[in-house]
Amino acid sequence: MLNLILFGPPGSGKGTQSEKLIAKYGLKHLSTGDLLRSEIAQKTPLGLEAKSLMDKGQLVPDAVVIGMISSALETNPEAKGFLFDGFPRTSAQAEALDKLLELKETSIKMMLAMVVTEEELVSRLLKRGETSGRSDDNNEGVIRARIAEYHNKTAAVADYYKKFDKVVTVKGEGTVDEIFGGLCKEIDSTLD
Ligand code: ADP
Repeated sequence: MLNLILFGPPGSGKGTQSEKLIAKYGLKHLSTGDLLRSEIAQKTPLGLEAKSLMDKGQLVPDAVVIGMISSALETNPEAKGFLFDGFPRTSAQAEALDKLLELKETSIKMMLAMVVTEEELVSRLLKRGETSGRSDDNNEGVIRARIAEYHNKTAAVADYYKKFDKVVTVKGEGTVDEIFGGLCKEIDSTLD
């Protein structure tokens, strides 16, 4: 299996690049942000709990997202590989993911970490907020809170995978195709 983590701060372009990567490599896309937004749209109890945290720019509890990922892995037994987007976001999530993959006798191949400056992130997210309808994108305070959560809790996830020599950094600024080219080059170099 080819299991990849697409990593980077909010607004770094993970969603856009994920769509292109799953098409090219035939992977199943698992985005915890998308899974949570679908719970919110269906007004489930989990969705209602998550929404109040997401609207403040805070992370939802580890147990919630780990449970969602665990069932997504189980419901896709035929997948050739998974592209994790927005997960893991804490060290506890990273450890849980390793254990879940071990049960399936597989592991993470690499973490692709996208690098984008903070000012570029804020301007992209505010722009997305004009059209996306996402309530966490149209308020600069909430955007800054999400970036702070990223620095406080999520950046450490890269250190976790560095211990296993699995992290490659990729430039997250430029055209969508240039960035995609950078990601594919790294993936292809591990496939030979
Ligand atoms: P972004 O575009 O900011 O990277 P996502 O769409 O991935 O955001 O997620 C939106 C929100 O959903 C996050 O700000 C957070 O509140 C919640 N969320 C998504 N994934 C996770 C996760 N793995 N752990 C905790 N909270 C998460």
